[in-house]
Amino acid sequence: MSISVKAPAKINLTLDILGKRDDGYHDIEMVMTTIDLADRLDIAARDDGKIVIDCPVSYVPTDQRNHAYQAAELLQHQFNVKKGANIYIEKHIPVSAGLAGGSSNAAAVIKALNQLWGLGLSVEEMAKIGAQVGSDVPFCIYGGTAVARGRGENVTPIASMPACWVVLAKPPIGVSTADVYQNVDLDRISTEARSTPQMIRAIENKNFKEICRSLHNDLESVTFEMYPVVEKLKKQMIRFGGDGVLMSGSGPTVFSLTGKQSRARRIYNGLKGFCREVYMVRTLGEN
Ligand code: ATP
Repeated sequence: MSISVKAPAKINLTLDILGKRDDGYHDIEMVMTTIDLADRLDIAARDDGKIVIDCPVSYVPTDQRNHAYQAAELLQHQFNVKKGANIYIEKHIPVSAGLAGGSSNAAAVIKALNQLWGLGLSVEEMAKIGAQVGSDVPFCIYGGTAVARGRGENVTPIASMPACWVVLAKPPIGVSTADVYQNVDLDRISTEARSTPQMIRAIENKNFKEICRSLHNDLESVTFEMYPVVEKLKKQMIRFGGDGVLMSGSGPTVFSLTGKQSRARRIYNGLKGFCREVYMVRTLGEN
């Protein structure tokens, strides 16, 4: 038996840095929502215990470095599973883009193998396992719209993001999340001014204008300083008339929210001239 699943990307509606922890990570609070830009995975059980990844994109590793591989191996070890898995990944989400592509693949594998290997794990149990692969994996297990705290691994689902259009543009660079966090200067970030509570209220009230006003990402200034092309792209997006424009995660993808399809099309067409990788999708909303 094989399972075919979609692994959607996420965008950050907020990312607040609250401080630095003793373990070297930052304490963060962020609202994320899934969007209809997804990889497709075909997953099947094998009898010989091997985990085999097939991904026809040269820059995605197919060995132990692949997050999907790590997720499968972790499940195998923790639950003493004798079976293996064939995992085919059809990539559509840009890589190292701030859209949690690898994390979403890992989450999809955990959910599929929970079924194929008959593990009977709850969503909470799968999220706990996912956290061992990466901080964004628990969010990807839940999907929908949620607030994530701690390193990002403590996830609480919230009301669904209202349906709207999302235009995304990725400049031709990859950004390492670790490098961006390493360059965070806490003296230059107001850890008191948090945008997340305001964003949660705006989403609960389905107030699209307020959602756009509450968009905020503390990592923007850090990535802009490291890669000025990202700030330039954000300015272009604002010029083309998005209702709310923000960088996702540690970047470099910048997105624009808009309620109207015609306006999304205009932003998409305008950006196409500047940037090769532009996408126009919808929010997924429901968990
Ligand atoms: P996040 O927003 O969670 O930081 P990201 O979108 O910035 O994620 P990814 O696309 O997940 O970054 O890729 C980060 C790194 O992980 C890349 O170096 C990539 O080679 C590696 N990687 C491992 N597994 C995968 C996978 N299944 N898909 C894409 N990249 C993967």
